[in-house]
Amino acid sequence: MAASPSPLSSTPSLYVVATPLGNLQDITLRAQAVLASVEAIAAEDTRHSQRLLDALGIRSRLLALHEHNEQAAVGQVIRMLEAGQHVALISDAGTPAVSDPGARAVARVREAGFPVVPVPGACAAIAALSAAGFVDNGFHFVGFLPARQAARKAAIESLRAQAVPLVFYESPHRIAECVADLADVLEPQREIVIARELTKIYEQIVRMPLADAAAWLAEDANHTRGEFVLIVSAAPAVEGIGAEAERVLGLLLAELPVKSAARLTAEITGASRNALYARALELKGG
Ligand code: SAM
Repeated sequence: MAASPSPLSSTPSLYVVATPLGNLQDITLRAQAVLASVEAIAAEDTRHSQRLLDALGIRSRLLALHEHNEQAAVGQVIRMLEAGQHVALISDAGTPAVSDPGARAVARVREAGFPVVPVPGACAAIAALSAAGFVDNGFHFVGFLPARQAARKAAIESLRAQAVPLVFYESPHRIAECVADLADVLEPQREIVIARELTKIYEQIVRMPLADAAAWLAEDANHTRGEFVLIVSAAPAVEGIGAEAERVLGLLLAELPVKSAARLTAEITGASRNALYARALELKGG
């Protein structure tokens, strides 16, 4: 039987390989082939990733690449590429470089002039979105909100008028605080999807009004365990203006007088200038 063709390119490359979020069967055939063929795999936590490689029967060398050794580790990856070797990058779970340290490694390898090849697969945000049942066109991926409450609330406020669902990552340590702040800053009638432990035994995906989410988290200790993706529905349409006009008006009002902000927003969005003027006065007054 002929040997299967190499999954690697003829040019030394960095392969950004998605790994499962929890369910081992979510590894793709291509990911397995690439991981088994590269000279080294850069991983956030080598002990964690060794368990994945052992389960897949892959013996490629692991090297640690995390926030604290990033400079040196990326230097080593680039030297390997210069020596004609192929390297893969994986994170603890899901797609590297999405809300994890891999992003900076990818940027540096690209700057060094080497190809970066995505090997797509599981991604927590996309898995949650695919099961959330929001019908909007598009979404706004936020990732992790700031850890400190004042900065977190300010960040949520800046997202309030987004006309598409908002997607957040959150850890079990901060899930209750984060949900409380979302409910505090955003309109209580907005819906939230709480997706925890995706693809794992205790996977749970629930949807409810934002106003009910704190009580849901508090009603069972298990509800605050595990890994979370939160999705909050789009800004409710503001009568007579629309969410996009509301967003543009908010931005312009931070820089311009009421009249100019209303006029420009009307030009940009097509919403009624009078309605915008009235809303701008409300916003300035409040
Ligand atoms: N790059 C990865 C991705 O996009 O798939 C995510 C990396 S980020 C450091 C880790 C966060 O992803 C967790 O805190 C959680 O918010 C989310 N996450 C990872 N695995 C998850 C799972 N099984 N269920 C729900 N959320 C998960």
